[in-house]
Amino acid sequence: MDSCIQNEKYVEDAEIERQLSFALEVKRHLSSDSRFSDSAPKYYIQTLGCQQNEADSERIAGLCRLMGYEETEDPASANIIFVNTCAIREHAEIRAISFIGEYKHIKDNDPSVIIGVGGCMVTQDHRSDKFKNSIPYVNFVFDTGSIHKIPELVLSSLQGQKRKFLTEKDFRIAEGIPSYRKNAHTAWLSIMYGCNNFCSYCIVPYVRGRERSRRSADVIEEAKKLIDSGAKDITLLGQNVNSYGKDTGEGVDFADLMRMICRIDGNFRLRFMTSHPKDASDKLIEAMAEEEKIAKHFHLPVQSGSDAILKKMNRHYDIEKYMSVIEKLKASVPDVSITSDIIVAFPGETEEDFEKTLSLVEEVRFDALFSFIYSPRIGTPAADMSDQIPKEVSRERFARLMDIVNPISLERNTRFVGRTLRALAEEQGKNDPRQITFRADSPRPIHVYADKNMIGNFADIKITKAETFSMNGEIV
Ligand code: SF4
Repeated sequence: MDSCIQNEKYVEDAEIERQLSFALEVKRHLSSDSRFSDSAPKYYIQTLGCQQNEADSERIAGLCRLMGYEETEDPASANIIFVNTCAIREHAEIRAISFIGEYKHIKDNDPSVIIGVGGCMVTQDHRSDKFKNSIPYVNFVFDTGSIHKIPELVLSSLQGQKRKFLTEKDFRIAEGIPSYRKNAHTAWLSIMYGCNNFCSYCIVPYVRGRERSRRSADVIEEAKKLIDSGAKDITLLGQNVNSYGKDTGEGVDFADLMRMICRIDGNFRLRFMTSHPKDASDKLIEAMAEEEKIAKHFHLPVQSGSDAILKKMNRHYDIEKYMSVIEKLKASVPDVSITSDIIVAFPGETEEDFEKTLSLVEEVRFDALFSFIYSPRIGTPAADMSDQIPKEVSRERFARLMDIVNPISLERNTRFVGRTLRALAEEQGKNDPRQITFRADSPRPIHVYADKNMIGNFADIKITKAETFSMNGEIV
């Protein structure tokens, strides 16, 4: 690809430098504020939604630290609060609005507190208009393409300028923005942004723009830095991660990129999400089978077991294609863990369509299934379809799906009992602090009584018990 066209995908270096200099100006401003002579000003980030949002919040955190803020776990003690919103389902939007309402009370007590709202929800015009017109206590709103402009927004709030709304939907790649990851041993690594697929129910292409892949050299450099600083589990992220590379002109596709990362020295494991079945190539399955560092876990959203519904969803594959990928995967990668997403009660879904979904689930036997009742999103074609399914039918179908899914999950976890798996100690147990949560290739957590000094290290774990959503084990 011509380098001019290639560069149009990127925010100019000069603009990145301008923002980084605003960050230093914020830092100077804060250091001259007597309120912070004894302790640094604090930031708090509330993140909703998917891993891409979590990765974006790590960039927001990186910028906050550059501006001189320190993290707090308590929004009431924060001087600046960010809400990184999600728009994938109505429930996520309701939660975001509820959090923002709570933070208003903090600002009522201390009007100097700055509130910034970003993410997919406010990248929709009807939502950003609402913030402009009826939520006056929010200092600024930034869409998913404007994260790198946060220093400028913060500076203008500190200087008492008017509220700002950056919602131009200028979706470009901003390299050179620092990320702050809370733990060194697990890391999200965004390799591409946006999506070209326009599934008829999905808001993502409208709020994150068209697909744009990062240069492979930038990805490799970031992966090397992560591994050097102790990352043991790296998840390559993209809305449609396995179509990586179509726009770079480099001739490096997703399977090539995975293999290039596997060549980096170090003791680490590589994951990826989320994949689209139409881009699940034999080449990718071969890479997974051959590369030891790639976790033997494939998340492959199917969404429905009915070809008629897949067509209405604009998914660009049918069940025959999906099953051919699953068969190749199972044949090439013994013991692979397969997980998926299903939308229940998509408009027009008949009882017969739904039963096809149940049959598919029985046949594939997913290790885990993330199922959701269809939620109409304003601006997507499916929201205007006339054959929406009544709530009571949706709920009944969802419950029937769960009745099938959960015993299969237990069966899949049970295959590990008595076996020893190499797993990474990820964090202290949430229910029992004497336990450490480990994770092997399967995405299911493994609870183990272990010393917390093990966190961040791999160990061989013998699985002693399987539950539906987790396993128990002991260190060998
Ligand atoms: S592939 Fe479909 S569901 Fe996934 S982000 Fe793109 S449009 Fe949305």
